[in-house]
Amino acid sequence: MPTVNAFCLFLMFFYAGQGYGQSEEDPWKTPFERDTSWSATREEAHGYYDRLARTFPSVHTRICGVSDGFLPLYEVVITADGEVDPDRIKASGRTVVLINNAIHPGESEGVDACLMLARDLVFQPALQKVLQDVVIVILPYYNADGGLARSPTYRANQDGPRLQGFRGNGCNLDLNRDFVKCDSRNALTFSRLFQKWDPDLFVDTHTSNGADYQATITVIATQPDKLPSALAEFQQTVLLPELYRSMDDVGWPMTPYVHTDGPPETGIHGFLDLPRYST
Ligand SMILES: [Zn+2]
Repeated sequence: MPTVNAFCLFLMFFYAGQGYGQSEEDPWKTPFERDTSWSATREEAHGYYDRLARTFPSVHTRICGVSDGFLPLYEVVITADGEVDPDRIKASGRTVVLINNAIHPGESEGVDACLMLARDLVFQPALQKVLQDVVIVILPYYNADGGLARSPTYRANQDGPRLQGFRGNGCNLDLNRDFVKCDSRNALTFSRLFQKWDPDLFVDTHTSNGADYQATITVIATQPDKLPSALAEFQQTVLLPELYRSMDDVGWPMTPYVHTDGPPETGIHGFLDLPRYST
């Protein structure tokens, strides 16, 4: 299963050139679009998805589990026909894309970008066509507890938002190290959600803490040596080139994420995404 970790400003990708949320009176403006120094809280994000779900039959929200702080975690399903049963959806042959946001709540672009994506998927005819073949499942605010603790200094090098959520969860665990040991209720919830949907593509959204990349969006794909050879070849020769090319085409070129642990003259290590991460 190819997996893409997108450490990114997704919102630029999804939102560039779209017409919604532009006018002051537009009721479908997201919290970020109303104030670009603000990122939606968990309550604001869940409330926005609930409003979409009450308005559009193609959007469905439900509780899929709890955090360590016993806050409900949401699962948002966006389908063309309103079908929300994973088995029936998989039997229909549609591609399932699972997106996880706010595993690190201070890294907030994915939260806001997915609100816009969900809205645009139901409003824009061109995007509605995508839903004929694809089902989007969004976990809007995975680290619900960390999102409650907001500070202007948790992401000191990052260019916004003005309040950033805390990295640890309600038990001070880094959820991005907990996918195998599952010490947290969040990770157990995620495992159940992942098994239930068995997605074809999984995207985990992050933000670099002020790293001075020339590109806005960076990508970590699964280390290809870990994949079965057919999937590795697909990832390296089809999926990634197409991602980079299509982002170039819309004016948002991407670059691979690199982990710097010394001067560049000593080389740049490939990122090894161990099982403790979502990959
Ligand atoms: Zn992160």
